[in-house]
Amino acid sequence: MTKFIFKCREIGFECDYETSGRYVDEIVPKIIEHLRVAHNIEKLDDDMKDRISKSVDKEHINLKIPVRKKSV
Ligand SMILES: [Zn+2]
Repeated sequence: MTKFIFKCREIGFECDYETSGRYVDEIVPKIIEHLRVAHNIEKLDDDMKDRISKSVDKEHINLKIPVRKKSV
């Protein structure tokens, strides 16, 4: 059974936060929320998304992180 684990430390923060879930969709919102609350990151840039993807989804590297787009 696939289990996804995210460790904040793995993307470069000195932070002990980690979360895990059976599905990517389950933990991505938690990661985004954590980054927003704990690290003041409102918007994930491509580099950050890439690091999260590699950290969480080492085999698939296919993490779909929703991007909050403002008015286009
Ligand atoms: Zn953190």
